[in-house]
Amino acid sequence: MLTVLKGATIFDGTGRDVIENGFVIINEKGKIEFVGSSYALPDSDQIKVIDVSGKFILPGLIDCHIHLDLHGMPDTYEENLVEDKLRAIRAAQEMEATLQAGFTTVRNAGSVNYIDFSVRQAIENGWLNGPRILTSGRILSITCSGTEYFAGMYRIADGYDEFKKAAREQLKEGADFLKIMATGAFMNPGGIPGAEQPDLKEIQAVVEEADKLGKYVAAHAHGAQGIKNSIRAGVRTIEHGTFADEEAIELMVENQVFLVPTFAVDYYWMKYGLEGGVPEHMLEKAEEAKGISIETTRKALQAGVQVAMGTDAGTPYNYHGGNAIELWIMVEEGLMTPQEAILSATRTAALACGIESETGTLEKGKWADLLVVEGNPLKDISILTKKENILKVFKEGKSVK
Ligand SMILES: [Zn+2]
Repeated sequence: MLTVLKGATIFDGTGRDVIENGFVIINEKGKIEFVGSSYALPDSDQIKVIDVSGKFILPGLIDCHIHLDLHGMPDTYEENLVEDKLRAIRAAQEMEATLQAGFTTVRNAGSVNYIDFSVRQAIENGWLNGPRILTSGRILSITCSGTEYFAGMYRIADGYDEFKKAAREQLKEGADFLKIMATGAFMNPGGIPGAEQPDLKEIQAVVEEADKLGKYVAAHAHGAQGIKNSIRAGVRTIEHGTFADEEAIELMVENQVFLVPTFAVDYYWMKYGLEGGVPEHMLEKAEEAKGISIETTRKALQAGVQVAMGTDAGTPYNYHGGNAIELWIMVEEGLMTPQEAILSATRTAALACGIESETGTLEKGKWADLLVVEGNPLKDISILTKKENILKVFKEGKSVK
């Protein structure tokens, strides 16, 4: 059985111009068979034609940085008071919302007590609809201030050998990639975002273990030295990258390291603030760093760094399913055109996650991960932030909305 989506304007994410009045053909395996402007439909009852004339088709969106078991509570500490089994059910519901919003893949950058692996498995088993989940298990961190704020989320390690073991544990549980705290964090009380944490050797231990299994490392890194350590140790992505200096940006370019800035965090903290219950210890640090991450990303883009979209969904007021806000911020801040913003959440995001042969663009042989939307998001990116505009979502060729 072939499924034919007919008549839409298609943005395939490869960089070529949109195709007007085009066809997307999905085969019985859920893969893309054809994308283009003319297709002679064979006269067969083995074809299901869906007329989407006047609508817009784009590749399924990819969020490179979420936390599926955080719920967006104003004070993240209160997440700890929700019992794990309940958190898993809540995460299941929120992953469904994420998929309905057009995100067919998410990369989960750290979870509590391995809830991530259960939710990923439940989706793979077909028990619930949700995006493809790539996940890291627990976050690897040195002994430092504030980690207890996220009970069960960190695997504390100190020294080369302990980092090796901590990495192996996550890989054994089924991690798709590893996440390390290369610097302090804004969200951890007492954490100093600019301060480097593990030594170069400790980060290398984690990269070596990931490498053995063909996997990679994502480094949470705000401070310039931590970013440089991470890149020199061989990580694939820098999460946040707030205080990257010229040398750090240079290193990202040279080593083809991706930057995942996560602007949505700050956006919501500033929007809701103290009155909204966002903790003072977070806001104080955010105030000092105000606007810096936007300017750093601007410089990184100018230097040729590949920026992949990530929201840090799950942080205060940053709800799952609202992920497209990040695209709107990128455009609103003048960092990207709508087309570039969409590419950061499709083609570039797939490259950052290492899944570019499976998804990220609409090309023959890849999964049919795509959305049909009302309006043209290349003209107005905010279209993607409104649920009612996401008319249809296909994940691996299956209609899930
Ligand atoms: Zn995060």
